[in-house]
Amino acid sequence: MKQIRRILIAGGGSSGWMAAALLSRLFQGLYDIVLVESEQIGTIGVGEATIPAIKKYNELLGLDENEFMVRTQASFKLGIQFVDWWKKGESYIHGFGVIGQDLEWLRCHHYWLKARALGRTGDFADYSINTAAALANKFMRARQDMGDSPLSQIAHAFHFDAALFARFLSAYAQERGVRRREGQIVDVTLRAEDGFIDSVTMEDGEQIAADLFIDCSGFRGLLIAEALKVGFQDWSHWLPCDRALAVPCERSGNFTPYTRSTAHGAGWQWRIPLQHRTGNGHVYSSRHMDDDEAERILLSNLDGRQLADPLKVRFKAGKRDKLWHKNCVAVGLAGGFLEPLESTSLHLVQSGLIRMIRLLPDAGFDQATIDEFNRQTDFEYERIRDFIILHYKATERDDTPFWQYCRDMEVPETLRRKIDLWMANGRIFREDEELFAEESWIQVFLGQGYIPRGYDPLVDIKSDAQVIQFLGNIAAVVGKCVTVMPTHADYVAKVCPAGLVAA
Ligand SMILES: Cc1cc2nc3c(=O)[nH]c(=O)nc-3n(C[C@H](O)[C@H](O)[C@H](O)COP(=O)(O)OP(=O)(O)OC[C@H]3O[C@@H](n4cnc5c(N)ncnc54)[C@H](O)[C@@H]3O)c2cc1C
Repeated sequence: MKQIRRILIAGGGSSGWMAAALLSRLFQGLYDIVLVESEQIGTIGVGEATIPAIKKYNELLGLDENEFMVRTQASFKLGIQFVDWWKKGESYIHGFGVIGQDLEWLRCHHYWLKARALGRTGDFADYSINTAAALANKFMRARQDMGDSPLSQIAHAFHFDAALFARFLSAYAQERGVRRREGQIVDVTLRAEDGFIDSVTMEDGEQIAADLFIDCSGFRGLLIAEALKVGFQDWSHWLPCDRALAVPCERSGNFTPYTRSTAHGAGWQWRIPLQHRTGNGHVYSSRHMDDDEAERILLSNLDGRQLADPLKVRFKAGKRDKLWHKNCVAVGLAGGFLEPLESTSLHLVQSGLIRMIRLLPDAGFDQATIDEFNRQTDFEYERIRDFIILHYKATERDDTPFWQYCRDMEVPETLRRKIDLWMANGRIFREDEELFAEESWIQVFLGQGYIPRGYDPLVDIKSDAQVIQFLGNIAAVVGKCVTVMPTHADYVAKVCPAGLVAA
């Protein structure tokens, strides 16, 4: 058994440096790791909103969360507010974490559906500490010492400055022995006998050989696509947005502990509050809207002074047929792209890296290991894809050709099954290790007007009065908890104020 010794990471965007930092920490000098990046080519640099799983990544790195937040000008995130998605004038929050509490063996939403049928419901957001706190602009970290209180259930993620994040990780990785090589890769040499990658050639002629290559080169997929010719599965018939314009503006008084996503005529606009600025972007379908119109809409919906010219990005929804082929693993945009509606890209970087580490091969690159990696990756991508498609499909909007298309489109069979099951009796099951839990699906279904025809029959074990009281108690306790929480702005100012300090 021969072990791999040298690892080459091609690319120094968020995914390249996330890879370098994690590998350097976990492998503790066991491998020789080189990261190649090119200042001339630059990075995409717009991934700024995350989901709670990112805390696992930070933990693996042993980072102090407050220091991480100061160094990246970060804010806290309790969820995402979706405005005008179901229909104009309607909004809801997809909050992280639990909703209410179970009763007998049923989820809280079944009781809510019954109360709704009785005409006696509160807003669904009142039953979750994350959504109720978000709407009140309140935040604090979960208090593990608070027993069953909703205050012990607060689930958070972050918004952060992507450039500062990459710089922070770069310093971290280099302190732990990763060698950074600046310059452009101009050629890739394959081994004649098996087509594995042997080495990359830099513009100054240096050849860098390795055993394992991690392709973090962005959309182009320098190694996985250009050198190894792995194909691409195009999902744009389900996710027609293919352009984005990103622009920062000055931070406004409204320092929300959530991302906002506002639907427009042919896509949607994000708003990500950071400590030193607010990030904004318009994701749209070029088939349904031209660039000038998209820019006009973006700029007329900023809530602070514009700080730079908009950055234009083109993309296509989908993924490579295989993210691991021969001795190359694609991570980040080189592997695939799902629009940032649910902030899943950096998570896919993290989970791809962890999966690769769990399946780290020896120098023989056993095919069963590679196949298992690709099987798990396909499953993860497809389930996230389905969840994002649901946001487009579950709409009553028909005010533009874009929304008519989305509302009427056929969806993947895996999603169709979930929708049908939900619409019958409000049931949803998390399959294997799919990323989004039942709570996420429930909030998007209800928030976008997919109200099931019935609820679980076992709800009727409880009398109407008991159901109303049960829900009322949850809302009252959540409401009380929210009143004692500090505002998001005060909490950040107290525990992790970045000021002018930057990585
Ligand atoms: C509009 C938009 C919004 C997004 N928002 C979010 C979000 O809110 N949350 C989230 O999780 N994700 C988001 N993402 C995704 C996120 O930005 C990416 O997943 C993340 O930045 C990782 O990018 P990357 O490192 O794979 O690629 P890139 O940032 O493109 O980096 C590629 C690297 O490869 C190098 N390179 C390329 N070719 C060569 C060569 N020939 N020689 C040497 N070096 C080379 C480049 O110099 C660069 O360092 C968003 C993406 C887009 C497009």
